[in-house]
Amino acid sequence: MQYYKTVLGLVLSTLLLQGEAAPLPAGIEDPEEAAGFVEGDMLLTVGQQLVLEQGPMGRNGLIDTTKRWPQNTVVYKISADFDDTHRQAILDGIQTLEEKTCVRFREANDEDDGYLSITAQPGGCYTAVGYLGTPQVMNLEIYPIGEGCFRPGTVLHEFMHALGFYHQQSSAIRDDFIEVIQENIVPGKEFNFKKYAESVVTDFDLGYDYNSCLHYRPGAFSINGEDTIVPLDKTAQIGQRIGLSAKDIDKINIMYKCPLLI
Ligand SMILES: [Zn+2]
Repeated sequence: MQYYKTVLGLVLSTLLLQGEAAPLPAGIEDPEEAAGFVEGDMLLTVGQQLVLEQGPMGRNGLIDTTKRWPQNTVVYKISADFDDTHRQAILDGIQTLEEKTCVRFREANDEDDGYLSITAQPGGCYTAVGYLGTPQVMNLEIYPIGEGCFRPGTVLHEFMHALGFYHQQSSAIRDDFIEVIQENIVPGKEFNFKKYAESVVTDFDLGYDYNSCLHYRPGAFSINGEDTIVPLDKTAQIGQRIGLSAKDIDKINIMYKCPLLI
């Protein structure tokens, strides 16, 4: 019994966060929401889950500097389960991040204890949040290039989780920008719409970002095809998975203390 409790604890302690999607036809599940982890695709440590449970919560960039990759360098291994095309799509995401930020990437070697293990398992897309110092998972289920976990903005969404960011709509200030329609959420999935404490996450004074690749789509976790998230700004569009927004780039650069591009 104790063994099973321990195993359960381990499973819970490594819950991953999932990314989201561009608008999808009703009834089509977004693989960023498929894994059943925290907010679909985030694998959280016990401490991070406690934080989640201790709301009210805030913003979307982790304040804890121990969760940032040392020397601004993400160490990674890409599973041999990916073919060359999918491997290249992942490398394209890395190239974008290296072009737009001062974060760097290098492949893991035998000496590395902590690295991002990029895997191709079934179950959608999901990622551990922030640097853990141990092998940590970023899973991208195989989809045709441009779809599901292989939309360019979803690859970047998952990398942003790995760098230390939660979902945009988890911001403490989100109620000033969006309305969450509780009655349209799949029963039991309400936890995906929690907010984080301002003591835990920050927006680095950049404010709310409808255009973030870390923002949920309007129909995320909908039970009836109706929207679960409605922007208060009626002109705003949410849920893009094309790429990094300007504020996404700035937030990464501020978190990793990069020289800001002017
Ligand atoms: Zn996510």
